[in-house]
Amino acid sequence: MKQESQCLYAGYTPANGQARVLPITQSTTFTYASTAEVSKLFDLEVEGFFYTRLGNPTVDAVERKIAALEGGVGALCTSSGQAANLLAILNVAACGDHVVSTSSIYGGTFNLFAVTLRRMGIEVTFVDQHADDATIAAAIRPETRAIFGETLANPSMDVLDIERLARIAHAHGLPLVVDNTFATPVLCRPFDFGADIVTHSTTKYMDGHAVQMGGVIVDSGNFDWAASPRFAEFVQPDASYHGLIYTQAFGKAAYIVKARVQLMRDLGCCQTPQGAFYINLGLETLPLRMRKHCENALAVARWLEGRPEVESVLYPGLESSPCHALACKYLPQGSSGVVSFSLRGGRDAGARFIDSLNMISLQVHVADIRSCVLHPASSTHRQLSDEQLVAAGITPGMVRLSVGVENLEDILTDLAQALDRA
Ligand code: PLP
Repeated sequence: MKQESQCLYAGYTPANGQARVLPITQSTTFTYASTAEVSKLFDLEVEGFFYTRLGNPTVDAVERKIAALEGGVGALCTSSGQAANLLAILNVAACGDHVVSTSSIYGGTFNLFAVTLRRMGIEVTFVDQHADDATIAAAIRPETRAIFGETLANPSMDVLDIERLARIAHAHGLPLVVDNTFATPVLCRPFDFGADIVTHSTTKYMDGHAVQMGGVIVDSGNFDWAASPRFAEFVQPDASYHGLIYTQAFGKAAYIVKARVQLMRDLGCCQTPQGAFYINLGLETLPLRMRKHCENALAVARWLEGRPEVESVLYPGLESSPCHALACKYLPQGSSGVVSFSLRGGRDAGARFIDSLNMISLQVHVADIRSCVLHPASSTHRQLSDEQLVAAGITPGMVRLSVGVENLEDILTDLAQALDRA
């Protein structure tokens, strides 16, 4: 099936007489006839649901759908995008290990990497994703366990050169982990360009209606964990499963099974059946919505470029964008709905502009069907120093506009009156 159809049908096929719509299995637990059967489930000898923290039919259907959309071998839903990125890294890195990340990433991920992972003994080196190969490779150490970046960086809208970063990562026996939240698999499938693991905040476009927190990790199945000397946990017996060896027992799915049975078991940041149901509803219309978001955002970006109050517009779909060539390669169908721009009047003009909007609302969110705005320097990226802000591609006066699916004229009318007042 093509993606539009996968969005509707992948992950759940009703049998004769069963519900057409994915049912919510609102149960924490599942019954079995014998202790022998439950023991086999606990020893991972057979597949099956036994406790919703580790697996649930509704959540499972959504995981299968997202894995199909990304072209992966398996997926694991989490309670939020933060949890997805945390688990994606903890699955390969432990205390004493190291990760290389691009610096243009979401502020929450930056804090997770720079503060919380550091407290756990995992050090992260941030690199400019546009630096040359040798500069990026110079950040890799013997204890490095992954390279991380965002397909479309939040909020700088930098486009990741996935193929190049994958090449650098693989030359050093490392997986490339890509947060594909803003692009969604509709606009870019990072596995097609050599990425090994993909993460998402499903809270964003996948849900799309601003109703449900969630995250997901998807495994391409392509990284050879046994071939690299860096991943002992994948090739040595796991004492918590009677000496099971992940690469031997689960082959191409070693990474995603390990994330579930080790990390989800122990950390418990799972998605709920009800939550998965909402995400599934969002996924059903994802291609339709992404088309409209991209169409509206490109028109808004072009319009903003022509306004005298606007100093700069960051949208890779614009011919003037330094990332335009990368966008043509990785995002040929559109660069999502997020447009970041700076007003000539700086921080004060940015605030006045946001306070003057009527239809478009101020929200700590992005990727909603309704247009919304945010001032990153005073909210999502508030904890960053001025140097860190610059490294993340953010100016103090930057406005992050998430263009929704409203009528374009209505969006432009609201922007125009707010610019006049700013
Ligand atoms: N990754 C990106 C690119 C994001 O934009 C966000 C949130 O905005 C996250 C991860 C974190 O996701 P969540 O808010 O679902 O925890």
